[in-house]
Amino acid sequence: MDHNALQEARSISAWLNDIFFRIHRHPELERQEYQTQALILAELERMGIEAKSIADTGVLGIIRGGKPGKTIAFRADMDALPIQEETGLPYASQIPGVMHACGHDAHVTMLLGAAKLLADRKEELQGNVKLFFQPAEEGAGGAKRMIEVGCMEDPHVDSVFFGHCAADHPTGSVSIRPGFVSAASNPFTVTFRGKGAHGASPHKSNDVIVAASHAVIALQTVASRRTAPTDSVVISVGSLHAGTAGNVLPETASLQGIIRTLDPNTRIRVTKDVRQIIEGIAAAMDVEAEIEIVEGYASTCNDESMTELVKHAAAALFGDSSVYHQPAPSLGTEDVGYFLQEAPGCYYHIGVGSKEKGFVYPVHNPRFAADPDALPCGAALYVQIAEEFLQ
Ligand SMILES: [Zn+2]
Ligand SMILES: [Zn+2]
Repeated sequence: MDHNALQEARSISAWLNDIFFRIHRHPELERQEYQTQALILAELERMGIEAKSIADTGVLGIIRGGKPGKTIAFRADMDALPIQEETGLPYASQIPGVMHACGHDAHVTMLLGAAKLLADRKEELQGNVKLFFQPAEEGAGGAKRMIEVGCMEDPHVDSVFFGHCAADHPTGSVSIRPGFVSAASNPFTVTFRGKGAHGASPHKSNDVIVAASHAVIALQTVASRRTAPTDSVVISVGSLHAGTAGNVLPETASLQGIIRTLDPNTRIRVTKDVRQIIEGIAAAMDVEAEIEIVEGYASTCNDESMTELVKHAAAALFGDSSVYHQPAPSLGTEDVGYFLQEAPGCYYHIGVGSKEKGFVYPVHNPRFAADPDALPCGAALYVQIAEEFLQ
């Protein structure tokens, strides 16, 4: 490498901060990322990078290298959260009840920074760099939509990378693991229906509260009794509603919950198990059950060799001791998994924490804030990954 990507990225810190503060002040909820999209399109145009809108509020950019080669893609999600910001920062959100509490503003800024540096040296690039500015990560499935409208083709993407902000790691560090990193999600709703009656005459009812209670307990056996102890399954019932008075047996009881899994085969089996248990309890308790299981995000699995590539690139910029091995996957979700199902790649965490500066709160917290000094680190790492991958 005849240049230092981190030094170059630090030389554009003022520009990075300006972009970051602008996006942070004007957070937009998923599927409403119009201003953010306009900002990205304008900045890419200024850099002379080919770009177009995609999936309504996203942006697809491409830097075509001067020499032929493979195509690498980087993804930055764009949406904010319905949270009232409590950071007290001078560049805090100006939109009541909406906040960039997951660092997606930093993700966009880091990728724009990388685009700027890569565009400057595109004649030397052996291949192409695609820029995926993805809307609607927090639930509405922007990644899937971008794939459906062809972001992985023309030219075909060989590998995809993404670094998510993590405040529990210091600025200038990376946390990473090969294999599964985040979970598949299947939210579900169950409604039990039966005959209502006076609480003193249970024999005249089909007691849906007893059925729902059995269901909550029995669902836990999917993880504890039907799943290998070394496999990861979570079933959580977070909502349980029935009845209006102590002496009335109601006609309906409903529960809502989530299923989280890592292995795609386990996911299929667990959703079947949940149905079987609910149907079995309904039959045993002589009530009816309506079950809805939603196909949420897929799990994310990092390719071994692409993970090694990121480790190497990160160590070259930040030093070996700043590359942490993430010991276990999270059972949280990230829709970057859809891209990684299409092409091998890696999803890692980029440190944005600083105890001295008070950047210590986790993502989705109203006090979460990313250390702006992490912006050049994230941008430089994309540049380094691109150059190592395309070499
Ligand atoms: Zn989030
Ligand atoms: Zn996020």
